[in-house]
Amino acid sequence: MLRQTLADLVKIDSVSSRSNAEIIEYLEDRCSALGLITRRFPYLDELGVEKINLVALSADVPEVELALVGHTDTVPYDPHWSEATNLTERDGKLYGRGSCDTKGFIAAALTAIENVNINKPLALIFTADEEIGLRGAKQLAEAKPLRVRYSIVGEPTSLKPIRAGKGYSLAEVIVKGREAHSAYPAIGASAVFRAARLINRLESIAEQLKKDQHDAFDPAYTTLNIGLIHGGSAKNVLAGECRFTLEWRPVPTQPSEHVLELFRAAIDAERKLDPGLECEVDANRQDTGFETAPDSPLIKLLEDATGNQSGTVAFGTEAAQMKLLGGEAVVIGPGDIREAHRTGEFVPIDELERCTEVLRQSIQQLCSP
Ligand SMILES: [Zn+2]
Repeated sequence: MLRQTLADLVKIDSVSSRSNAEIIEYLEDRCSALGLITRRFPYLDELGVEKINLVALSADVPEVELALVGHTDTVPYDPHWSEATNLTERDGKLYGRGSCDTKGFIAAALTAIENVNINKPLALIFTADEEIGLRGAKQLAEAKPLRVRYSIVGEPTSLKPIRAGKGYSLAEVIVKGREAHSAYPAIGASAVFRAARLINRLESIAEQLKKDQHDAFDPAYTTLNIGLIHGGSAKNVLAGECRFTLEWRPVPTQPSEHVLELFRAAIDAERKLDPGLECEVDANRQDTGFETAPDSPLIKLLEDATGNQSGTVAFGTEAAQMKLLGGEAVVIGPGDIREAHRTGEFVPIDELERCTEVLRQSIQQLCSP
């Protein structure tokens, strides 16, 4: 049953660029067959494609004790990879796109709730567009269709309970200059030199951020990156414009704004030396991190059930949005994140089966005491 469910899920192409209506329909049927009440939360993505979040409830109530959360979308796959939508077993592993990220968890969740007495309300939450900026989960966090005491969010963690994750913030920085013949630099102003001075200051800010330590993480502080830079029009022209991306991953105890404030102060300081400096900071993403205390009953339960100590991750997950629905969150699932997003993605069968057992125990302890 577990394996058939995963095969069914993998068979449905649910790459983020497509509508996830087909996989949602499948999940809705499965949930209805289990006696759950299903609700769709549709929206249109940036390209006008219909995306749907699905909430399935064991009882028609505004607050649930436990939610099992899985995203329905996957990253794209190489069309030459024949196993991508055709789940294939080899050496104790099941290969296919989404097998570990995150259809394995979804199959485990659907299997785990069979044959368990549910006395306290439980929800299954299936989201869209996780792989392209957690958009489905953000929609749900905003709509707040229910409150959740404990959330278990599926992601490949090799069954290690993840109790905290860093946030994710992104800004585009546009620095203006004045074009001129490079033989006469005094009559212009190079946007590239200006951007370079600001980037030097950002490197100092990155050093300064290391002082605000959060020991649960590796690295134990907010990191910062300039991943892209583009400026100028020709080798012998002073650059009129230079753009770069500023990305940072804040520890959950630090507001995302902190880096922006430090950067704005650096721009002001630079402007004192270069009064003509024009610089625009377009902060377009500020995803919060999340943290659940190590002694939370949810974390203890999953540590006991898996035999694995809880840990943290340095990247963003839907746990932060689930936290906005109330309560506490943890991320866990079968498979290894390093195997996700590649041709040859797989989930180890024993981990998939153990995950089902872990979810069953979690439901028993939290929803049917
Ligand atoms: Zn995922």
